[in-house]
Amino acid sequence: MLNKDRILKNFLDMVRIDSPSFKEAAMAEYLKEFATQQRWLVRVDNAGKLCDGDTGNVIVRIQATGGGEPIAFSAHMDCVPPCLGIKPVVEDDKISSEGETVLGGDDKAGIAAILEAALHLKEENIPHPDIYLLFTIAEESGMHGAKNLSAADLPVKKVVISDAGGPIGTTIVKAPAKAGIDVTFHGKPAHAGMEPEKGVSAIQLAADAIRRMSLLRIDEETTANLGKIEGGTVTNIVAETCTLTAEARSLDDAKLQKQLDHMKQCCDEAAQNIGGSVDFEYTISYPALTVPADSPLLQKTDECCERLGLKFEAVPCGGGSDANILFGKGYSVVNISNGMEAVHTTKESISLQDMYDTARLVAEMMKSPE
Ligand SMILES: [Zn+2]
Repeated sequence: MLNKDRILKNFLDMVRIDSPSFKEAAMAEYLKEFATQQRWLVRVDNAGKLCDGDTGNVIVRIQATGGGEPIAFSAHMDCVPPCLGIKPVVEDDKISSEGETVLGGDDKAGIAAILEAALHLKEENIPHPDIYLLFTIAEESGMHGAKNLSAADLPVKKVVISDAGGPIGTTIVKAPAKAGIDVTFHGKPAHAGMEPEKGVSAIQLAADAIRRMSLLRIDEETTANLGKIEGGTVTNIVAETCTLTAEARSLDDAKLQKQLDHMKQCCDEAAQNIGGSVDFEYTISYPALTVPADSPLLQKTDECCERLGLKFEAVPCGGGSDANILFGKGYSVVNISNGMEAVHTTKESISLQDMYDTARLVAEMMKSPE
């Protein structure tokens, strides 16, 4: 039997462990201990060394007791700030924090559900294929654990991630790619009163570039936003530099690239018009997630929900997660809800029933086919 009290206890134990991004060592230790007690194989990879973290991803292998294709289940160990000294409060079915911190249900609810499902299969001797559990580091600060995961450490084709909200059965099938953009406009300083014609204003250059840009809602799948602009020093000097920080997102990688090319072209045109020069730099933080409608893993999720009486719903999501990264690495993925609510706020909460239902769904997905 899936054990509600045990899920609650394990969840509360975990949220009390501090685990901000890059400092998940205590959580990793807890999970290593947990797996070792169950005689599951567990190791920590070297992702932490590659991103200056104090631990790597925790990867558990539970050997097959039945047929079927190997499959992985994943959730992240880190929490967004404020997340130090979390004191969970349980009121009937609802768990929240005391109000000074987040709860950390994002994503320890996912971890709790996955562990409970795996325990359940073991205790009831339910046949299952090779199962891998992947608990990642530094998801919240840019998915560094998933990015630095080596494919050899996760030899499966399918990964079920549980890092989403909504009624249980909600499954994320689309999430945008995102690019961070840094632009530096270089003008030429001159005394603004005596010989302004010798100068090139970096601020005017930026303004000219910006007025050429298509921004905000670009199309159904694509957005772009200027987040911050800074430039110049005092009024009697023609501004030498101006910097602009922006982002662009799209559910389609090609459309994102098109928007980036457009923004760069606007900067180049402005430099031709005003003078000066522009450094336009961007990094794609993560690729788009697009789970095809005929994905066998998606179909399996649907079927498992159906068997359990959960309402399967495939939905898009506005933000990226480990699912984007793992999808970009070639894994077939889905990101299933664990019921987390008001995440990234001090009002974050989760329902025990939702965690229990997530564990039921995960257990159903872990089983060998009949
Ligand atoms: Zn999360």
